[in-house]
Amino acid sequence: MGRGLIVVDVQNDFCEGGSIPVAGGARIASAIAELVERSVGRDYQYVVATRDHHIDPGSHFSETPDFRDSFPVHCVAGDEGGEFHPHFAPVVADGKVHAVFFKGAHSASKSGFEGADAEGTSLAEWLRVREVEDVDVVGIATDHCVRATALDAVKAGFRARVLLDYSVGVAPHTTAAALDDFRQAGVAVSGEAPVPE
Ligand SMILES: [Zn+2]
Repeated sequence: MGRGLIVVDVQNDFCEGGSIPVAGGARIASAIAELVERSVGRDYQYVVATRDHHIDPGSHFSETPDFRDSFPVHCVAGDEGGEFHPHFAPVVADGKVHAVFFKGAHSASKSGFEGADAEGTSLAEWLRVREVEDVDVVGIATDHCVRATALDAVKAGFRARVLLDYSVGVAPHTTAAALDDFRQAGVAVSGEAPVPE
């Protein structure tokens, strides 16, 4: 039935100039905006976005981060770093993104399926009500939040595919491991750009 696009964490702090910048983030923000412009209402009945949105996430923030479970302060609710990247923000402002799901208020949260929209509806529930059965997942980062969101999509009963041409990874070895995890979990992968910049 319906196909949805899930855009993961295209936020200032995860792009060049942010507090945990991923090389290629700004470029992928532009590519995703173009994808949304040309495919919303055509290839995708629905487009949603997730946002890392921290109020007091406990040990997720650290002055001595390990960059696995703890990170420098990022995506604080209400701060510029948590806003959508300016290359992507216009398609949200134009109403081409149908809902935004916030995650991580009081804990670490990598998967968009842990988030809720402004009404408190979970991502899985929001998609099911609209009879979406297939989801494509894109965004930042392939080896962190894109990975967790795609794996949770399959667990929640959706057919999921990660579009590598519209995702960017932090590091080569963790991105390669994420691709293995996708294969094992039955997440489809499309695109030819698994190696981070
Ligand atoms: Zn976070």
